[in-house]
Amino acid sequence: MGTLITCNERGRHWRSWLGCVLGLFCLGTVQAATPLNGAWRDVRPGDTSQAVMHDYRLGRLKSFDPSVLQRFPVVAAGAWVVIAPQPPWDNGERVLTIYPPPLGTVTVFGPGQPQSLALDDFSAPAHGHGRLAWRVPAAMAGSAPILLRFEPSSTLSAPVRFELQSWNAYLQQDAYWLTLASACLAAMLAMVLMALCFALMLRDVTYAWYAGYILCYMLIQGVQTGFVFHPLDWQWLSGMALASATMAIALSVAFASLFMMRFCELHRYAPLLRVPVIALAVGMIQLVLMRLSQVPLLVEVAQALLNPLLMLGAALLLVAAIVAGVRGSRQAWFFLAGWTPLLLLTALTSAQANGALPELTWLNDASLAGGAFEAIVLSLGLADRALRLRQDRDVVRILADHDALTEVYNRRGWSERASVLLASGPPRPIAVLFLDLDHFKLLNDRQGHSAGDRALVAVAKALAHELRPSDLFGRYGGEEFVALLDGTQVEQAMQVATRLCRRVHRLEIPAGDDASLVLSISIGVAMRRDGDDVASLVERADQAMYTAKVNGRNRVCLYSVAKTAPGATPARLHVVEKRGGES
Ligand code: GH3
Ligand code: MG
Ligand code: MG
Repeated sequence: MGTLITCNERGRHWRSWLGCVLGLFCLGTVQAATPLNGAWRDVRPGDTSQAVMHDYRLGRLKSFDPSVLQRFPVVAAGAWVVIAPQPPWDNGERVLTIYPPPLGTVTVFGPGQPQSLALDDFSAPAHGHGRLAWRVPAAMAGSAPILLRFEPSSTLSAPVRFELQSWNAYLQQDAYWLTLASACLAAMLAMVLMALCFALMLRDVTYAWYAGYILCYMLIQGVQTGFVFHPLDWQWLSGMALASATMAIALSVAFASLFMMRFCELHRYAPLLRVPVIALAVGMIQLVLMRLSQVPLLVEVAQALLNPLLMLGAALLLVAAIVAGVRGSRQAWFFLAGWTPLLLLTALTSAQANGALPELTWLNDASLAGGAFEAIVLSLGLADRALRLRQDRDVVRILADHDALTEVYNRRGWSERASVLLASGPPRPIAVLFLDLDHFKLLNDRQGHSAGDRALVAVAKALAHELRPSDLFGRYGGEEFVALLDGTQVEQAMQVATRLCRRVHRLEIPAGDDASLVLSISIGVAMRRDGDDVASLVERADQAMYTAKVNGRNRVCLYSVAKTAPGATPARLHVVEKRGGES
């Protein structure tokens, strides 16, 4: 029973979450509580609100559906809009909202003084988040039409829709929007901070370009939705909304170009497209400087060039990413997966600005969510890139530590590991064997260098096979090998060395012209003493090996100092010798 209740509760819990998420994505499609009719016309010189309402009552205004997106030309003199509530009328507390919020000013003609609504108006009592809101005065009858004037603005007017909601419905939608916007912007900000930390710690500018790109995108969304004004209350941006959005757009393209160039490795996968991508980044930075210059002509040129350059740039980045992806850049697919949805949304928004797709009222919210989605996908791409770099580094490290011919440790790799072994662990016997092939030059001279190489490979393989996995074996150089036997007493070390000597002889690799002379090896053995390092141990093993050579080759010699009377110079080398040839 208890489990049943828990399951039910859990089910309800999940359903409420699902409802919340779906609610967030369906924000734009919430229907207005009050059905509305709309009518509009251009502002003419000498217009008064009474005259416009008179025209409206005579049916001289063009009618439109306020529940779908409608564009009003505001570049010239502005536009008058009448929103007429339809029955059943609601006489309670109501709010008229305009979504998405226009960048210019809207004047509302209510029962009292006309009131101005603007994104960067910090005094409005019920301003609205992500939209403009006007609280309908209680004195206004539920059936009374509301007159608005979209004031002239230099911005390209984006289409808007209207809703007349009860105060409670308005508050609920406002809270939904704030949650969505905060979550999306927080996700982007988290990725930006992470990227900046990575840029500083890894000293990799790719992360910095990425952070710049996402920051600019956040600023664009923050200005366009009004988030920077309400709730962020950035009053210093007031009056600069258009300029800052324009500059953020240009900079975002510049950062995106620089980021994608490094991220998709254009120098490797699409070198020819690298130059135009750099040119795009430089061009966009140029536009920002022109916009900042305050010289009217330059500002105008920058404004005029922005849109064509944006379209060209988008096409260029798309082509470059596809080419790089097709030619094998894994990151290019991450870039396309994250960026294409945003590109699509931008294309749809541009189509809407020209009057198409009026029913798609959710594009603005989707652009916010798309930004967060892109930031996450690109971060995954950056993580994947870091993983690949680590794998490449591991491969390079293996190559640096191993001998290309025999695949055993090379001198560097062996010495490094031998030093660690010598320095670590409790005091214990350690033996080092120095092995040098006999008459190898003869083999090379008589049978050729490649036969010599094959012999080296065969010998290395046989020696490695004969040793324990815990023994450290490597090629010291030329035809010389080394082995470190950890925790091995001198007797054992001599036995192992003798076994190795016999093993090489048993390979029966011809060393001369005929089979009478087979390849053999001479081995010097040295035991670790106090204060020994790798160099001193190898040095003694080498000396012992030299004695083995002098004594006839194909044998094992141990380095040991003969005991002499106190004060006398110790005899340098006393060698215990074992022959390895006969098996
Ligand atoms: P000893 O018995 O005194 O050691 O005579 P050796 O001929 O083995 O010694 P020496 O030092 O005179 O010659 C070593 C030869 O090993 C010379 C060099 O060409 C050859 N050698 C070194 N590295 C390689 C290699 O990677 N491949 C081949 N094929 N030969 C190599
Ligand atoms: Mg040699
Ligand atoms: Mg040799």
